Amino acid sequence: MSSLSQTRTESRTPLGLQLDDSVLEPLFVALTLAGIVAGALLERVAAPTGIVLAVHGATYVFGGWYALRAIVAALRERTIEVDLLMVLAALGAAYVGAWTEGAILLFLFSLSNVLQHYAMARTERAISSLLELRPDTVTVRRDNTLVEVPLEEVAVGALIALRPGDRVPLDGVIVRGRGNFDESALTGESMPVQKAEGAQVLAGTLNQSAALDVQVTKPASESTLARIITMVSEAQARKARTQSFLDRAEQYYALGVIGAVALFILLVPLFSGSAFGDTFYRGMVLLTVASPCALVISVPAALLSAIANAARHGVLFKGGAHLEELSRVKVIAFDKTGTLTYGHPEVTDVLPQPGVSEHELLETLARAELQSEHPIARAILSYADAKRIAPVEPETFSAITGMGVRASWDNCETLVGSPRLFQDGGLSLPSALQAEVDRLHGEGRATVLIVRRGERWLGVATVMDRARPDAAERIRELRAAGIERIVMLTGDNQAVAEALGRQLGIDEVHAELLPEDKLRIVEQFGRTYGPTAMVGDGVNDAPALAAATIGIAMGAAGTDAALETADVVLMADDLSAIAYAVKLSRRTQRIVWQNIAFAMAVVVVLVISTLTIGVPLPLGVVGHEGSTILVVLNGLRLLRNA
Ligand code: ADP
Ligand code: MG
Repeated sequence: MSSLSQTRTESRTPLGLQLDDSVLEPLFVALTLAGIVAGALLERVAAPTGIVLAVHGATYVFGGWYALRAIVAALRERTIEVDLLMVLAALGAAYVGAWTEGAILLFLFSLSNVLQHYAMARTERAISSLLELRPDTVTVRRDNTLVEVPLEEVAVGALIALRPGDRVPLDGVIVRGRGNFDESALTGESMPVQKAEGAQVLAGTLNQSAALDVQVTKPASESTLARIITMVSEAQARKARTQSFLDRAEQYYALGVIGAVALFILLVPLFSGSAFGDTFYRGMVLLTVASPCALVISVPAALLSAIANAARHGVLFKGGAHLEELSRVKVIAFDKTGTLTYGHPEVTDVLPQPGVSEHELLETLARAELQSEHPIARAILSYADAKRIAPVEPETFSAITGMGVRASWDNCETLVGSPRLFQDGGLSLPSALQAEVDRLHGEGRATVLIVRRGERWLGVATVMDRARPDAAERIRELRAAGIERIVMLTGDNQAVAEALGRQLGIDEVHAELLPEDKLRIVEQFGRTYGPTAMVGDGVNDAPALAAATIGIAMGAAGTDAALETADVVLMADDLSAIAYAVKLSRRTQRIVWQNIAFAMAVVVVLVISTLTIGVPLPLGVVGHEGSTILVVLNGLRLLRNA
């Protein structure tokens, strides 16, 4: 049994039949209906008053039990549930002798609650299906024998034996074998990914084809899957702004309705001379039709469904509030590297200065970059490796964020980086080198890195990152979805950035930025254009992601930092999820407003009809509960794909 459903109360009968609320609640509804029929028949045959009252009383208990429980729980926290209005109306009806009508009210009210719970359970199931991706036991290799170990007890460093068709139980690294992995459960991406020794595999993904050994890198509670589950359940619990507003308004509204109905019952007979009984009955109808049940459920019904739909597509919203914000976004800023491009640059040219050998330039470059984490460093090292250069560790190393690296060995300092690194350091390039850098920049294709060791300028190297082939199309999709301005932010060179910007159809390019510049620009956008989204790879863009109205981290299945900093996490390394998320958020917002408008309209129409032409209680209840159910069903439409 999942931890999510354990919150409902449970009891076991001697027969072993499980009696929890999901069984008892519909049973009580059925008993209420039976009681209504029995009560009406007994009244018809003029049975003794004691018996009739006993049946009516029992019917009220069955019909009002769950509402009463909710009311008591709410009163303990000093809040008012709208259920209170319904129970008061039913008791009031009984007071003027309209027992059957009051019972019909309770019946329809509890029936509608059962239907709502059933509907909401469908969104909860989207999370339970994630829970099912976790096995109870794991096959672990120990001294060449295989043992079954409970999931929670598998230690970091243990070796797991995976058979073809097994789900990966824990995050780890492949140490033997290669195979295809279906990651769709986490990322929504249906194409299997090939992985070999040294590659990271994530809990919840499916090993399709091979027998492999995986070394565990994280305990069960910290796996990416475990964190997704926590995040999605927390997201569903966290309230959007509209919803918290409605929750607070509900309190005052409910009190206001009770007060107004009390005044109505006391004052109308005084002034109009109509009978007290009639006015009281009308007051009970008012209490029912004015209660905001549909309004209260209208927002969560939509948001929960949308969050569940998104999770199925590998898009994690960290709360309903972010759906609301994303729907209002007009500007999206993209980090270039790793977002619009693959983020795996390759070395294209190595151009030594006169008197320097290519070997010397490359060896110096590789040694200086050896300890850097930057994708540029990885490109240089794999290029050096292909040329059979094995760099030695430098004596000191430091990264100069957004500009380059500084390393030293043999009492001599080496600088590698963008022209800005040298400008800022007060070093001006010799004119021949400057001319070459300008020429390369003019081509606008690659990032130019300058290498200087001691007093000598050794030359330049260029690295190029490929744009994602679908980037231009995805940007068009975003425009079609209603995003008005698309911006690129990058630490890379102006010419390279502009060339890519033109190719992809981007409105505005800001280049040669340091991380703090990105943050400043994102804040500026917020002030100029209103809600702004920032899309980054989540690794070195954390400040800008945090500064944006809504931070979207992409390709996050493997990185921990991104899961923490962003508001929306795209599990797949794929741009198409952004337009999906934007469209989903706008669809959600439309449905939220439809629900709110409809719920309010029904209340207004019913209240006016009750005050003017008069509405029988059962009809008022049908209108009231009907609108509640319609609003929930309308919200559930968000579980479906558009
Ligand atoms: P982006 O905004 O595209 O993610 P960064 O802020 O990481 O770029 O880096 C900006 C620029 O700084 C790079 O284009 C490069 O010129 C220079 N740079 C950063 N790190 C390194 C490095 N390890 N080696 C050489 N140059 C670097
Ligand atoms: Mg970056």
